[in-house]
Amino acid sequence: MKFYNTLTREKQEFKPIKENEVGIYSCGPTVYSSPHIGNMYAYVCWDVLVRSLNYLGYKTNWVMNITDVGHLTSDADSGEDKMEKGSKKEGLSVWEIAKKYENEFLENLKELNIKTPWKMPRATDHINEQIELIKKIEANGFTYKISDGIYFDTSKFADYGKFANLNLEKLREGARVEINEEKKNPADFALWKFSPINEKRQMEWESPWGMGFPGWHIECTAMSTKYLGETFDIHTGGEDHINVHHTNEIAQGFGAFGHNTAHYWMHNAFITFAGSKISKSSGGLYTVKDLIDLDFDPLAYRYLVLGSHYRKGMEFSLENLKVAENALNRLRNLRVETHHDASLHKINQAFKQEFVEKIGDDLAMPEVLALVWKVAKSDLNPEEKWATILDFDKVLGLNLNKEIAEEEIPEEILKLGEERKEARVNKNWTESDRLREIIKNKGYLVEDLENTCKIKPIK
Ligand SMILES: [Zn+2]
Repeated sequence: MKFYNTLTREKQEFKPIKENEVGIYSCGPTVYSSPHIGNMYAYVCWDVLVRSLNYLGYKTNWVMNITDVGHLTSDADSGEDKMEKGSKKEGLSVWEIAKKYENEFLENLKELNIKTPWKMPRATDHINEQIELIKKIEANGFTYKISDGIYFDTSKFADYGKFANLNLEKLREGARVEINEEKKNPADFALWKFSPINEKRQMEWESPWGMGFPGWHIECTAMSTKYLGETFDIHTGGEDHINVHHTNEIAQGFGAFGHNTAHYWMHNAFITFAGSKISKSSGGLYTVKDLIDLDFDPLAYRYLVLGSHYRKGMEFSLENLKVAENALNRLRNLRVETHHDASLHKINQAFKQEFVEKIGDDLAMPEVLALVWKVAKSDLNPEEKWATILDFDKVLGLNLNKEIAEEEIPEEILKLGEERKEARVNKNWTESDRLREIIKNKGYLVEDLENTCKIKPIK
């Protein structure tokens, strides 16, 4: 298996630290607003990474943090606190904001069939770990104190900026990072920020340095090493994290432990929104719920993501999503041709071999999808075809098999559903409610959507 490692800027053979076990840390969401489909893109990509490793027989320990403590809106430890900003906007406490959007995020994971990570630690549950880590970095002589906090002295780490090919000279000119006059070097960053004098923050904690809150990079070093050890296999994040967040994480690892914490650093590109479809008419970016409200299957979005390479990103539009949904449905329909339980049939080994090669080539998912269609259009018998595609679905995560169970709704229930539809057209609500009850008592749920209704078995 080969992955593109940002550390070396090349595709590298993957060699895990332990023979059959892989530790993966993914920078998770900041829970101050609804995650949009651009945010979720990354998590589909990393879910594919985890599933691919599982497919090849590795046990994975996947950690994804929940950032529920306020990042500042700028990279340079200045600007507004996102959590406090969200709190003011919605009239909820920061704690309520965090809970609300964490739940939305978890819901999105389920809808996109993203495996639940092994651990999802919250930053606010790990304040002590962060303080302990800062103490270590301090004891090793990498910190200094100024009026608003404890900072990491980047000049003490000779390789600072190497990871991102940063031009420190340029930074010094203040081109990218705002200058805080008290900082020794422009790239120095806060490990611990002091609460403003005479102002009570909603989130603040006692520390050896005074009342305050952690800087925005320390949580990832603290939580990744707590759960995966001081050295672990893979660290993932968006490519926007390379210059600051991950560069600083690497510096913190060096400051605390004397070495880089992760062997492979993998980064995803982003989705762009095609042409005029930049956002909804209301202004925001589409969320998974928006797609469901537009009557899309959320897994159609997953299919669309699989059609892009994680390092290239993709262009999103509702038209592209529709094409993806049609393709997904055509794939699901392949089971119609099969007459027997596909699990009893053999998987085609030649195609499987091709599949393994493609996922092993830095997760070449667009090629994997092309392979799926090559299998679909091949002259294998329908059962072997379906068994092979279902095997690939362990990585694709399109739930191709589950859909069968959902679609096999008995004739009797479908008939009741039709009667109820008619009652609704005639605005006979008493009758439509009565039929809903009957359907429910037979073990099925009716979901009313804008122009249609869906019937699902009660799980
Ligand atoms: Zn992070």
